[in-house]
Amino acid sequence: MICCKECLDLLSDYLDGELDSQATADLDEHFQDCPPCIAFLNTFKTSTHLCRETLRQVDIPEVVQKKMKEFIDQQKQKNS
Ligand SMILES: [Zn+2]
Repeated sequence: MICCKECLDLLSDYLDGELDSQATADLDEHFQDCPPCIAFLNTFKTSTHLCRETLRQVDIPEVVQKKMKEFIDQQKQKNS
């Protein structure tokens, strides 16, 4: 089982379909029992707003919070 950090590092490749089948399976498995990463995935996909409802309901690991913040900051810079 991969950890959140690995999961998030692979996320953009995952969405681009650039991961091999093993890595894709690892991510799919991680998403099944990690709501914070699912929320991040959704945020990443839409690039518009955080899934606040989801985020309120779960404890977010620090690594996910940090990555999410970085991502949002990047988006803000792109859009400004
Ligand atoms: Zn996770």
